[in-house]
Amino acid sequence: MIHSSAPSAAVEPASTTPVADPWRSHPARIVRIAEEIAGVRSYDLVLGDAAARAAYRFVPGQFNMLYLPGVGEAAISISSSAATPDLLTHTVRAVGNVTDALALAKVGDPVLIRGPFGTPWPVDRLADRDVVVVGGGLGLASQRALIDSLARQATACRSATVIHGAKRPADLLFQPEHVAWRAAGIDVKCIVDTGDTGWTGPVGLVTDLLDAMPLDPQRITLLCCGPDRMMTAVAEKALERLIPVEEVYLSLERNMSCAVAHCGLCQFGPLFVCRDGPVFRHDTIAQFLAVPQL
Ligand SMILES: Cc1cc2nc3c(=O)[nH]c(=O)nc-3n(C[C@H](O)[C@H](O)[C@H](O)COP(=O)(O)OP(=O)(O)OC[C@H]3O[C@@H](n4cnc5c(N)ncnc54)[C@H](O)[C@@H]3O)c2cc1C
Repeated sequence: MIHSSAPSAAVEPASTTPVADPWRSHPARIVRIAEEIAGVRSYDLVLGDAAARAAYRFVPGQFNMLYLPGVGEAAISISSSAATPDLLTHTVRAVGNVTDALALAKVGDPVLIRGPFGTPWPVDRLADRDVVVVGGGLGLASQRALIDSLARQATACRSATVIHGAKRPADLLFQPEHVAWRAAGIDVKCIVDTGDTGWTGPVGLVTDLLDAMPLDPQRITLLCCGPDRMMTAVAEKALERLIPVEEVYLSLERNMSCAVAHCGLCQFGPLFVCRDGPVFRHDTIAQFLAVPQL
């Protein structure tokens, strides 16, 4: 069962600490590459410097800036366990300059890391809550460390549900791990836009699964990451179901450059996604989410 007050044996910080020098990139090497689904790979990275490796800590939901020399930098969520920060996994879809170059990388190749940056999922507020994690597509990557924490009971909650939506069954992320998550007491529900001959699960939207769930509005904390349209729909559904606005968290993705609120590329209304996010309480960003293209 998920509900437990047993402390985790693993080292896992509940709050973030500022990066000593946010401009400094630390050399790392790729030690493993795993193809998750078509076009999406996970890269396990190990920092080269022993002191930097020993000092590195992150909280689920935070991200690193990955720098490929001569190519550029991209913001990528840390998708491995926060209990083992000496190995940092990043799950990446090849969509542009840096991520396409990363898709050509091999085990042993160098990558430089700045980070960790950003606000995490509110792991210190989940005790005794019914936690509902909603991940659309690759959004689940930013939630994998959180789900790991729930599965290890490091975040002792009352119950945990993961709702994962994807376009097709072959696009469902981390499927081999769903078995372990279920074994740990997490209710994992998947839904696809379009099924295929082997698919016996539901077809539709993640909001359909929320509709079908009994939700106790006083106990739910909802943590959502995915395309903006999906997050808006999920947040509206949550409010319809009388879940208090302060219990709905969304993780935003915006093009990002400096990661330290200087360049303004990720400005979102008066906020900077790199510094004030990526994880926001819904009521702090609802009015800006409603503005197209912001
Ligand atoms: C907090 C955070 C966490 C993230 N986590 C992940 C993650 O875990 N995994 C992951 O795969 N991605 C993640 N991303 C997204 C990733 O940072 C972006 O996809 C990033 O742009 C990839 O860098 P790139 O150089 O490969 O692509 P880019 O070259 O920047 O291109 C990215 C996309 O933007 C388009 N684009 C680029 N420049 C322009 C332009 N001038 N005008 C219009 N469109 C343009 C491209 O066509 C492409 O579709 C995250 C982003 C944030 C902010």
